[in-house]
Amino acid sequence: EDLQIAIDGPSASGKSTIAKRLAERLAIVYLDTGAMYRALTWAALKEEIDANNEKAVTELASALKIHFEADDSKQQVFVDNENVTNAIRRDEITRAVSAYSAIKTVRDIMVDKQRLIAKQTTGIVMDGRDIGTVVLPDADLKIYLTATPQARARRRYAENNEKGYSTESLATLEKDIKARDNYDMQREQSPLKQASDAIVIDSSDMDLNAVENRIIEEIEK
Ligand code: C5P
Repeated sequence: EDLQIAIDGPSASGKSTIAKRLAERLAIVYLDTGAMYRALTWAALKEEIDANNEKAVTELASALKIHFEADDSKQQVFVDNENVTNAIRRDEITRAVSAYSAIKTVRDIMVDKQRLIAKQTTGIVMDGRDIGTVVLPDADLKIYLTATPQARARRRYAENNEKGYSTESLATLEKDIKARDNYDMQREQSPLKQASDAIVIDSSDMDLNAVENRIIEEIEK
């Protein structure tokens, strides 16, 4: 049986770290759907295509060749043949991505790509905002991973420093996180929400091992 795991939740809740760990532990594929929306945003900013120009953004999304390459240490993201792994994490992209991912025709294209990837694998864990509700409504396990905005800002700040990325102050990161939460939850297209059959995990006071073990418990049930 092909195992499909959906992990949704707000930004910086630890979804991608947990999804990567699960993929490794269960020897299944990991798909970072946020990286796909970020890659599109990166390309749109490069081509100077405004998010209000839905037609041009949609054309860009359907022409865009995004692919992932597994490296020993981490997954690399490519747009055409350019490695954008680090570029798509910049604050400038983070601030712009919600507006591009709010476009319905863009989401349709991305969801199709995501389902196709899932179909080609014998097991997958995907993280995003709409995986359990839209992309994989029949997933074997749905996790909704959340944490307080304060806890998430602290994690993002530590991560930026650790990776040597330029970073906003802690206060600005928290403000940005709250703004993105509001935008992602209130948008018309696939707003961030819990699937009715999702298991909710609040990781504010949990470390990564605790979250991972909690999910493994669910898989083994
Ligand atoms: O997960 P990450 O923070 O990298 O996602 C970046 C942005 O992409 C989110 O803020 C959200 O607006 C968008 N996104 C989305 N649907 C997904 C994954 C990400 O709309 N499945």
